[in-house]
Amino acid sequence: MKFTLKSYHRNVPDEELLNDVIAVSKMTGRNTVTMAEYEQHGKYHPSTLHRRFHSWFKVLEKTGLEKSRSDINIPEKELFKNIEDIWVQLGRQPKYDEVKKPFSKYSAGTYDKRFGSWLKALDKFVEYINEEDDDSNEENTENNQLNNNPEKPTRRKTKRNISDRLRFTILMRDGFTCQSCGASPTKERGVELHVDHILPWSKGGETEEKNLQTKCKQCNLGKGNAFNK
Ligand SMILES: [Zn+2]
Repeated sequence: MKFTLKSYHRNVPDEELLNDVIAVSKMTGRNTVTMAEYEQHGKYHPSTLHRRFHSWFKVLEKTGLEKSRSDINIPEKELFKNIEDIWVQLGRQPKYDEVKKPFSKYSAGTYDKRFGSWLKALDKFVEYINEEDDDSNEENTENNQLNNNPEKPTRRKTKRNISDRLRFTILMRDGFTCQSCGASPTKERGVELHVDHILPWSKGGETEEKNLQTKCKQCNLGKGNAFNK
């Protein structure tokens, strides 16, 4: 037997790869297979198939399985962003039967399929929120140039933009409640919450937890840059 690198699977015939996808669909009892399911149950790495057939959609096409393009192509990050949106609209952890319109862009079934269950999706979401932002320490020259006083250059530690993760962390910390007037979507449907710099970024305030707070849309719009309110 010739020695081959196992991770590449260059020599596996197309048919065998496709048959393995069909085997997984039989195992799950569904007429389609997601890349995540294949990664869990398949013999080969999904990227091997992806590479061979150029897309997961094509893999399903060739196997004759059902192609649910929309579900396959939604990036995990987008699914997490959607959970965040539902959570913010409700002001609390969303329940399974709330994962639908108008709160959610995707059905609860989409989360079931991708993560195994809604609760598992929530687990993964919390993991995702708790991860560090990759770019939090990145230098941002554009930001640094905003300071137009060459005598007193201010080095900014953070970017002005509040990441989805940080925004959600602040909303959680503040209990999804406006820190000025107490408005919250848990009390009144449709209250829109924003996360805002306490000391404005333009006045040197950093984008970090201690300088961020939850405000409802009304209070936030009334505030502008008058930070001593
Ligand atoms: Zn308010």
